Amino acid sequence: MQGLCYNAGLMAKLITEVLKRHLSNKARVTRISTDHGVVLTPCFMPVGTRAFVNHMTPEDLVAAQSQLILGGNTYHMLVTPGMEVITMAGGMHRFMHWHGPMLTDSGGFQVFSLSRNKKICKIDEIGAHFKHPVSGKLIHLTPASSIETQKIIGADIIMAFDQCTPEEGGRIAAIDALTRTHRWLLESIEAHHQQAPRYGHDQALFGIIQGGSFRDLREQSAEFVLSQDLDGIAIGGEVIGGDMLATVEIISWVEPLIPENKTRYTMGVGLGPQDLFDVVAAGIDIFDCVAPTRNARHGALYCGHFETTEDGWIRFASTEEKGRILIKKAKYAQDQGPIMEGCGCYTCKHYTRSYLHFLFRENLSLYSQLACIHNVFVMNEACLRMRELILV
Ligand SMILES: [Zn+2]
Repeated sequence: MQGLCYNAGLMAKLITEVLKRHLSNKARVTRISTDHGVVLTPCFMPVGTRAFVNHMTPEDLVAAQSQLILGGNTYHMLVTPGMEVITMAGGMHRFMHWHGPMLTDSGGFQVFSLSRNKKICKIDEIGAHFKHPVSGKLIHLTPASSIETQKIIGADIIMAFDQCTPEEGGRIAAIDALTRTHRWLLESIEAHHQQAPRYGHDQALFGIIQGGSFRDLREQSAEFVLSQDLDGIAIGGEVIGGDMLATVEIISWVEPLIPENKTRYTMGVGLGPQDLFDVVAAGIDIFDCVAPTRNARHGALYCGHFETTEDGWIRFASTEEKGRILIKKAKYAQDQGPIMEGCGCYTCKHYTRSYLHFLFRENLSLYSQLACIHNVFVMNEACLRMRELILV
């Protein structure tokens, strides 16, 4: 089965081909073609919020089987180094020396996270006003300025400006965020139409479904977003990735509405490998999360093995709590085994738990690099195992 998605009118194109589907769930392997290379999904995106993925060079990322990265957040890149520097570098790919496919966030997540402090961020119908808590720099982010910034960054996939839905505000807050997000989507599309790519490669635009935990709102949002001419569809909101049972249920509401030739992206999913198996089985293709590198830096290292389930899918089986070991524990001081038996990552091939325990306890910087390499590799390996299983 093959599907093509062209958006010639947007001066951008993203080709999403469905290569094969799993027989008993909604998982699928797709091929996404960008001007910086091909991505095979399911695909996890390591997050480089500030133009770098924590403690990993692009060579480390490739060695850890990364194909696509979330290469920089619009808000953070505006704060520093600013768009003048990115323009001088010739775009983010050159600036950070990542030459593969890249996605950028629109800044919508910061609208959500920083707006809790009214001194830092105020939202109105036009956009969001930020005051950087350290530098005091003022930033006014609107759909048009978010798209303009993402054009300067030059990622292969850019996101419409949205308001991530908070869970605590209930239905009223969900309706507010949904209404604003829909209006901002139209303004994002218009800005995308008006501004040509800056560096000669195409940029695809994704829209974001909001609606919180309310089925009718999610369906309403899906219908609105899908009525627009977009290259891919994201599912956002605070609940996504934070509550996996709710996440899978929300996907089940909107997935039947999404055409098969649209890439599906759950934003902020991937606290560990099992989360990836769960959303892919529900029909999702790509996902990002800061957790693998953040966990690694804090000493929590994924440890388990990939196991086929009775229904022909995969799970991350582990005897460890939450599927990870805490390397600071004294019992690892003399442990001569790798972090995870059978892991093919650079760290596990060359270093012991004992050495990592030593590096962590002594606060030596090499620890973070080796730890991030392992956790990102495990997430990517989970995706590789799913692709192999589906393609058999
Ligand atoms: Zn490893």
